[in-house]
Amino acid sequence: HSKNQGRNAYHFFTEGMNAGVKRRLMLEEKMHGAISRDEFSLHYQPVIEVNTGNIIGAEALLRWKNPSLGQVSPEEFIPIAEQTGLIVPIGYYVLNEALKATSTWIVKYRGPFNIAVNLSPLQFKDPKLINTVKRLLDQYNLSGNSLSLEITEGVLLGSKHYIRQAFADIQSMGIKISMDDFGKGYSSLNYLRQHTFNTLKIDRSFMQDFERDKTAPALINATIAMAHALDVEVIAEGVETQAQIDYLTENSCDYAQGYLFSKPLPHAEFEQLLCLDEFSDVLTS
Ligand code: C2E
Ligand code: MG
Ligand code: MG
Ligand code: MG
Repeated sequence: HSKNQGRNAYHFFTEGMNAGVKRRLMLEEKMHGAISRDEFSLHYQPVIEVNTGNIIGAEALLRWKNPSLGQVSPEEFIPIAEQTGLIVPIGYYVLNEALKATSTWIVKYRGPFNIAVNLSPLQFKDPKLINTVKRLLDQYNLSGNSLSLEITEGVLLGSKHYIRQAFADIQSMGIKISMDDFGKGYSSLNYLRQHTFNTLKIDRSFMQDFERDKTAPALINATIAMAHALDVEVIAEGVETQAQIDYLTENSCDYAQGYLFSKPLPHAEFEQLLCLDEFSDVLTS
C-alpha cells in the first residue's frame, strides 16, 4: 500500500474479511466521485396506456458503469448509496438528468409526458428536496404534472406528520406520488389508508406468479378495483406476456410497464421508440 492512499477504504481490507464485505467496501469507495467522473447514466422504460397503447411517459432507472467494476446493478449499489448518504447527491443527478430529458422530449415529440423518478428514504427526508425539485421544474420549463415520484414502504417509516406535510407540498405542485412495489412489503394497505397516493404500481412479483398461481390474478384484479375506488391510478410492473396484458386490459388496469413493451433503454434509443409512439399492435392482437 502506498502512503498516498490516505484514508482510502482499501486500508481496511484484511485477509479475514469475507468476499461480501470486501465487495461492499470496494463499491462504496468507487462510488465516491462517480458522479464527477460521469459514470452514471439513466435508462428509460416506457409506460404504456393500456386502452390506447400510447407511451404516456417513462420510468428513469439509474445505471452505473465503473472502469474497473464494469456495470453494477442498482439492486446492489442503491442500498449502499442509501447507507452511505451518497444517494442524496446521486438522486439530484437523477432528477436533473430525467427532467432535462423530459423537457426536450415534450418539445420534440408530444404534449403530455410523465417522467417517473425513484426516491430513496434519505432523499425524501432531505429538507432541500422540495425546493430543489421546484427549481429544476422552473429551470426546464416543466409543470409539476410532468413528474411522478416513486416511493417504497421504507420512505413511509418515521414521522407521519412530516410525511403528510411532504406529500402535501409535493402534490400542491401537481407532482404525482406513486407507491412503488405495491404488495411486496408488509404494510402496503395500511400506507394506502394513511396517505394520499396518485398512483399505485403493482409489484412485478405478481406478474411473475401470474401463470403458475391462481392467487396472483385474483390479487391483481382486487388491487385494481380497490385503487380505483380510492381514485388512485394503477400501473402494472414487469409485464412480460400477452396473457398478462390481456388480463390487465380486461380488468381495467390503467398503465403497464415491462419487457413485453420494452426494456429500459439508453437516452437515444428511448428517443427512437418515442418516434414510433405506440404499441397498439400488442394490445389489440
Ligand atoms: P423499481 O423502481 O421497481 O424498477 C423496476 C425494475 O424492474 C427495474 O430494475 C426494471 O429494469 C425492472 N423491470 C422492468 N420491466 C421488467 C420486466 O418485464 N421483467 C422483469 N423481471 N423486470 C423488469 P432495475 O433498473 O434493475 O432497478 C432496480 C431497482 O433499483 C428499482 O426498482 C428501484 O427500486 C431502484 N432504482 C433504480 N434507479 C433508481 C434511482 O434513480 N433512485 C433510486 N432511489 N432507486 C433506483
Ligand atoms: Mg453520461
Ligand atoms: Mg420504481
Ligand atoms: Mg417497482
